[in-house]
Amino acid sequence: ADSDVADEAVRSTCDDASICKRFATSQGYWTDPYIQYFVRQMGERKAPEINRGYYARVQGMSHLLDAFLKRTQCDCQVVNLGAGLDTTFWRLKAENTLPKKYFEVDFPMIVARKIHHIKTKPPLSKPLIETHSADSLLLDGHNLDSDRYCIIGADLRDISSLEEKLRKFQIITELPTLFLSECVLVYMTPEQSSRLVHWVANTFHTAMFINYEQVNMADRFGQVMIENLQSRQCNLAGVDVCQSLDSQKERFLLTGWESVNALDMMAVYGLLPQEDISRIERLEFLDEKELLHQLLQHYSICWAVKDTLSLGINFT
Ligand code: SAM
Repeated sequence: ADSDVADEAVRSTCDDASICKRFATSQGYWTDPYIQYFVRQMGERKAPEINRGYYARVQGMSHLLDAFLKRTQCDCQVVNLGAGLDTTFWRLKAENTLPKKYFEVDFPMIVARKIHHIKTKPPLSKPLIETHSADSLLLDGHNLDSDRYCIIGADLRDISSLEEKLRKFQIITELPTLFLSECVLVYMTPEQSSRLVHWVANTFHTAMFINYEQVNMADRFGQVMIENLQSRQCNLAGVDVCQSLDSQKERFLLTGWESVNALDMMAVYGLLPQEDISRIERLEFLDEKELLHQLLQHYSICWAVKDTLSLGINFT
């Protein structure tokens, strides 16, 4: 029962992420016309550094995803692990850059909620129907499967059942495949997340894995972040206070990946298009620059590549 409470707390984190993203988009940080259909409430006002942090997270992840789609000319698959209520499928559809098939995995309970929103809201269901040719669209309470979009309910800690479900919904291990995990691996033990990334490297011929999560938690600021998460009874199995950029990289280098890069979000912030940074920095006045820098230094993007087909997907 303790682990049920912990898993329930982990599931609730997907609302937090979406509420924060919805708030930031309402302030003009970036555009997302679909998120309103997943989270009705905007929640209370978020501090400017939180909004800027989410901006860097969403832009950083999209930048690498878009680069992969471009390099593979969309002749690829994308698998979003622990996708929660993420809206990337609809963005790619609108931009006409959908991969061959876009997969999402999350706990069955989250997936059921997501599917309910999709079923009942035409702005969400219409793009999905438009990308589907046959009349046999599978849309039961727990799975959604169409030509280009598939949502699977599974526990990422149970790899054999994950693999079985992905295969059931026609994942092709020979096609270049991008795996995304955004604030997800932190909820698993280091052994569980290593097994997951190892399975990907072992199973897919040409793959990239992009992971966004906390780093450098050993200092005072990191301790406060951990206490915050723990106060909500979250199962933070993966929070290793010693997790540094190097240990992020090590997870991949020890599990069969060819090359890996990692940057903290302060570095990512500096690499994002600076005109857009100037634009968003004018949206809200930020008194305490130091707080933003601290926050950005405690998150990272790490990306690993196994490029058997020599596609040049190693963006350094
Ligand atoms: N990736 C989304 C985003 O960034 O907006 C959601 C992030 S939320 C912080 C973490 C998500 O990971 C939740 O939706 C949670 O249900 C999912 N998750 C965590 N552990 C999982 C597991 N073992 N199996 C499946 N999903 C998991």
